[in-house]
Amino acid sequence: MTEPMLRLEGLRKSYKGKQALRGLDLTVNDNEIFALLGPTGAGKSSTLLSAAGLVDLDAGRVHLAGRDVTDIDPSGRDVSIVFEGFNLLPVLDVKDNIAFALRSPTYREAEAVIASRVGRTAELLRISHLLDRDVDTLSGGERQRVAIARALVRRPKLFLLDEPLSALDLKLREGLRAELRQIHRENRSTMLYATHDYHGAISIADRIGIIDGGVMQQAGTIEEIYACPANIFVGKLIGSPAMAFFDAVVEDGCVRIGASGQRIGLPVFGQLAANMAEKLVLGVWPEDIEIVAPGTDGANDGNVYAVDNRGFERAVQINGNAGSFRKVVPSATMLKQSDACAFRVVDGAGFLFDVAGGKRISHQTKGGRS
Ligand code: ADP
Ligand code: MG
Repeated sequence: MTEPMLRLEGLRKSYKGKQALRGLDLTVNDNEIFALLGPTGAGKSSTLLSAAGLVDLDAGRVHLAGRDVTDIDPSGRDVSIVFEGFNLLPVLDVKDNIAFALRSPTYREAEAVIASRVGRTAELLRISHLLDRDVDTLSGGERQRVAIARALVRRPKLFLLDEPLSALDLKLREGLRAELRQIHRENRSTMLYATHDYHGAISIADRIGIIDGGVMQQAGTIEEIYACPANIFVGKLIGSPAMAFFDAVVEDGCVRIGASGQRIGLPVFGQLAANMAEKLVLGVWPEDIEIVAPGTDGANDGNVYAVDNRGFERAVQINGNAGSFRKVVPSATMLKQSDACAFRVVDGAGFLFDVAGGKRISHQTKGGRS
């Protein structure tokens, strides 16, 4: 088995007594794009800075390509980092900004090699026409492309990209994501890409890690995470719309949602007791919930709280006694705000979570989008 490109082990970091990383583990395989997905303050930037050697860790080890680099300076690590915002040198024009790292004492390259690499990188990022401009004459989107080009022109073992696209508008983001994937294909590079954007993460990444509170909550392919979300936090962050949650109890081998709601075949018959005293939470991907006519036998009563127009489709929010959820439906839907409706969970779908810790206590056996 080949060594992973990056292995972070038990990282701990606090800033003035406030813990940003609390025993974070993460593995990025060689030649993979790994997206680190989490809300603001989750510890994404601290993780990338740790990998680059730009923070002093309280504990933990950093391994790069099989070597323990925890005590090695950033310049000895062969990683390239793109920060949020723009770190360009205002006194240089675009081509010299991009070439900068290649001319540094560590990576000194022949000028002919530099010119050809700068040219190719500029082409991929569609900034060839800007090469002779001063950076302070560029728009925000152009500056961000130059900042990315500056990092990508090098051929380090590992690229660390910290929300490189979050300041850009949607169209530009989609375009640049495709270009990053193209660069990844051409250079067979390894990327650790931090983002708070679920769509951005799943569209670019081979694998995803979900981080919160300075701890890795779950890592895997998106299919693995859909098939087995580790906890309620993961369910809330993944999916569009996110997972639906209902108060649930286990009675006579079935899950019942709400006080008098639908009985659903227990997702894990045999693994859990047929009757459980404690209150639980059933998490269900919206794809496993059917909206049906009010009064349908065995369904849960609800009403349409909101209908969002998404162009080719609608996102409806349904409120019921047991909980509420959002789901995408075709734009031809007849559902209107305040309509009565009913919904039912596909038999056997869903995951039971413990209320207190939010951990999953059941495995899905059928249904679901696994
Ligand atoms: P993210 O990139 O996911 O938003 P960060 O790694 O930047 O998360 O931050 C994690 C936590 O550490 C946050 O609570 C943040 O406020 C705190 N933090 C990060 N950098 C510093 C710093 N230089 N000084 C003090 N607190 C910091
Ligand atoms: Mg950050």
